[in-house]
Order: sequence, then C-alpha cells, then structure tokens
Amino acid sequence: MSTAVFPQDLLINGQIVAGDGVAEDIFNPATGELLCRVHEASPEQVRAAVGAAAVAFDGWSRTTPKDRATLLLKLADQIEAHGPELARLESLNCGKPYLAVLNDEIPAVADVFRFFAGAIRNMGGMVAGEYLPGHTSMIRRDPLGVVASIAPWNYPLMMAAWKIGPAIAAGNTVVIKPSEQTPLTTLRLAELIVDILPPGVVNVVTGRGESVGAPLISQPEVCMVSLTGDVSTGQRILEAASKSVKRTHLELGGKAPVIVFDDANLEEVVAGIRTFGYYNAGQDCTAACRIYAGKGIYDKLVAELASAVSSIKVGLQDDEGVEMGPLISIRQRNRVASFVERAAQQSHIEVVAGGKVGQGNGYFYEPTVIAGARQQDEIVRREVFGPVVSITRFDDEQDAVRWANDSDYGLASSVWTRDVSKAMQAASRLQYGCTWINTHFMLVSEMPHGGMKKSGYGKDMSVYALEDYSCVRHVMVKL
Ligand code: NAD
Repeated sequence: MSTAVFPQDLLINGQIVAGDGVAEDIFNPATGELLCRVHEASPEQVRAAVGAAAVAFDGWSRTTPKDRATLLLKLADQIEAHGPELARLESLNCGKPYLAVLNDEIPAVADVFRFFAGAIRNMGGMVAGEYLPGHTSMIRRDPLGVVASIAPWNYPLMMAAWKIGPAIAAGNTVVIKPSEQTPLTTLRLAELIVDILPPGVVNVVTGRGESVGAPLISQPEVCMVSLTGDVSTGQRILEAASKSVKRTHLELGGKAPVIVFDDANLEEVVAGIRTFGYYNAGQDCTAACRIYAGKGIYDKLVAELASAVSSIKVGLQDDEGVEMGPLISIRQRNRVASFVERAAQQSHIEVVAGGKVGQGNGYFYEPTVIAGARQQDEIVRREVFGPVVSITRFDDEQDAVRWANDSDYGLASSVWTRDVSKAMQAASRLQYGCTWINTHFMLVSEMPHGGMKKSGYGKDMSVYALEDYSCVRHVMVKL
C-alpha cells in the first residue's frame, strides 16, 4: 500500500467521520498499486446523511441567491487554490495524465461552481400579471428538497461539481455518493466544503451501489435522484424511484456518431478524432467513437487516422508528453479487449491501429482503430467506453444521418463538412442532446449537456440544470 496520506472519511452533517462499513480497496490504475482503503458508509450513516440534509434544507432553501452565490464562489476559489493537490489525487485514483487533470479538469470544475453562482442570481421566467381578471398570478421556481446524487468513475470531481453546483445553487441540499472505485477527490472536496457550507447542505457518503447507493436513493426524505452512470443502473434507479415517485435526472451512456462528409478538412478530422476519441482513454460518454465516412474520404481517413492514433503517447501520470493513461480497472480493460477480439474475428473488419493490451502492471489498452465496421456490428452499436474508434463507410449521404440515429443512445454527435447548409441539415435531423460541427467534445458551463433515448434525460450545466433541480410553482392572489 502507498505510504501517502489520502482522504478517507465521509462528510455527514458538517462533520468529517470515518465510514463504519466495509473497506474498499482503492487502486492506482496505471500501476495496479493499492493506494488506500476507504470504509464505506454504514446504513445508519446513510440515514444520518439524508436526515442532516433534510434538516439543513429548511434554512438553506431560505437563503438568498446572493448568499448562496457567495459561498459557491468561495468553494470555487478553494478548488482552484487546491488545484494541484486535487489534480494529483484524481490522476492517481483514475490513472489520468496529471497535467491533463490540472490544466483541463480542475479549471472546468471551478468554473462550474462560478457559473451557477452567477446563474442563480439571474433566473428568468414568465412575468407576473392578471391572467384572470381580479387575480394576480406569479411564477416561483423553488428548490425540491434533498437530492441524492450518484456519480461514476470517469470524471469523479467534475461529476461531483455538475451535481452539487446546480442543486445547492437552487437551494436544495445534497447527499452525494462517488463511485466506489474513485472516491478520493470527492472526499477531499468534502474537507473543503466543511469550512464553507453550513452543516448538512452537502453530505458525502462512499460505497458500492448495492450497499450504499440503493439505500440512499430509497430514503423517504430524498426528493430527487441524480445519476450519471450506466443504462442498466439508470433502469434500477428508475424502478426504485418509482416506488415513492421521486424525480430522476439520468445521464447514462453514449455512442457518439461522427459524420465525415467527403468535403471535410481531413487534417482537422484526423486531429479531432485523435483527441476526442481517446481523451480519458475513451472513457467518456461523448467520445468520438463511431465514425461514418463518405466514400470519397474513407480510405484517406482510415490511413491517416491509423497513423495519427499510433502516435498517441500512452503512459504513467507524470511521463513526459503522456497523452493517454490506462483504463480504470482490469475488468474494464478486459471488457474493452473482448469487444476488439470479437470485432477482429469478422472478416470485413481490419484493426488498423492498436488492438492489444498494453505492457506493465497497469490496466493499459492500446489506442485502437477498427476499419471496415458495418452498421449492425457490435462494435458500432454497443458502448465500449475505452480507446476504440470504429470507422464505417457510407456511399449514400442519406445513410449517414440514418445510421447515426439508428442507435439506442442519444447523447452527443458531430458533423464534419465545409458546407454550412449540409452541416445544418444534418444537425437538425440528428437525435442527440448535442451536435458539434467541425469539432467534438467541447463543453462549456453555459451550455447544457444531456441525452435523448437511452442516454437518459435532464441537463447538466447551464440554466437548464437549475430548472431540473427546481420546481415551477404558481402563486395566485385575489385582488
Ligand atoms: P455505473 O452505472 O456502474 O455506476 C455509476 C454509479 O452508480 C456508481 O457510483 C455506482 O456505485 C452507482 N450504482 C450502481 N448500482 C446502483 C444502484 N443499484 N443504486 C444506486 N447506485 C448504484 O457506471 P460507471 O461504471 O461508474 O460509469 C460508467 C458509465 O457511466 C458508462 O456507461 C458511461 O457512459 C456513463 N457515463 C455517462 C455520462 C453522461 O454524462 N451521460 C458521464 C459519465 C459516465
């Protein structure tokens, strides 16, 4: 086990307390080294966290937007001040390149809290008026109560920010459970929160889905459940939430189509997919992983992408120039490997880059490009959640959007062409929460992120998240 000291305790009612449940091993995925053990929350601790959030709601929901904004801004400042430390924890726990976390993720996390601090002071809506003679109607937007938030392992701190930021800005209180595999940055965030927010406004409990997540979401005081995770987990959460008719907010998987028309700028397409298909080792629900290329550009794209992807530098967190780390676990690595093995057995498929497990004790998998994939192939239809990109050729442009939409998922998509009209027509027909044109994966706090179909519903970031974490109410006064 590492000799470094890691945050391991929960946050319940403004107190940092050790978990009373079983211990979970926390690994460094780049080396396979055991970093520490984190005790999960006991059933009593889960109940206490929800109880504390329910008590805190009364006072917190009555604070002014200005007062909540002031505290959110303080939290953002603390995140930034502890940026290197948080980046180090995230990078160790997830295997991500350290500089990518420090330079890309930490500023984005701080910005999420800053955005919601500003946005909650500027909520818009319908004007008050006499819609019925002799009666004045007005619209309120009020918080819901206790929100149970369940986060995944791919961007632990970012997901915590996406969930906590809008919920508490809107006046709710939160109990958040990070993934049992990646709790460290959320536990450190808890230590920063304890000095800033009133007790009970944010509580952090750790542990597995069955032992901590399931009891958390079924507590009667929980009004809303927010999950970022797998489709199957979303289905289980919907089932549990239906028993007491709790609100749900589900950000589930993705299988982003990337439509490359013949007139696209090949160099930009190759650079874009090299970056956006393999960022975070492809463990990203918006990853540019399902390419549809026109017949006029297909061969050049396959050749140039294979060469570009073969040059991605894979390595340890602090290796010079490292661009891609390992997968989160052996299980995830084996899952990715089995997708590629099954694809490679098909005679029409050619693995033109990567296709093998990496060297060493870490959970590495080579950045992989699969050419010749067809619409009905498993590699085109199922979410791999790893550094694997498939390319499918289309002869008829009508097929591109049709195939892109022929998917269970509906989170993110992109279209690459020099023809604005063609891009806009495709964008209007794509059934995805987001369509990028001549880029991919660019997220910004002001704009919503969220899916259609089995990718779920509800928006993260933007004022739409504030709407999701609050309720429209009508107040009418008889004059
Ligand atoms: P997962 O569904 O296995 O776990 C997500 C979280 O749910 C974890 O905290 C887990 O402990 C918890 N959980 C599991 N079962 C539960 C239950 N019965 N009750 C309550 N909580 C439960 O997903 P993961 O493996 O951590 O993350 C990868 C998945 O998340 C991928 O499918 C990916 O596409 C998806 N994801 C989606 C988005 C998005 O914005 N749409 C973002 C990141 C990840």
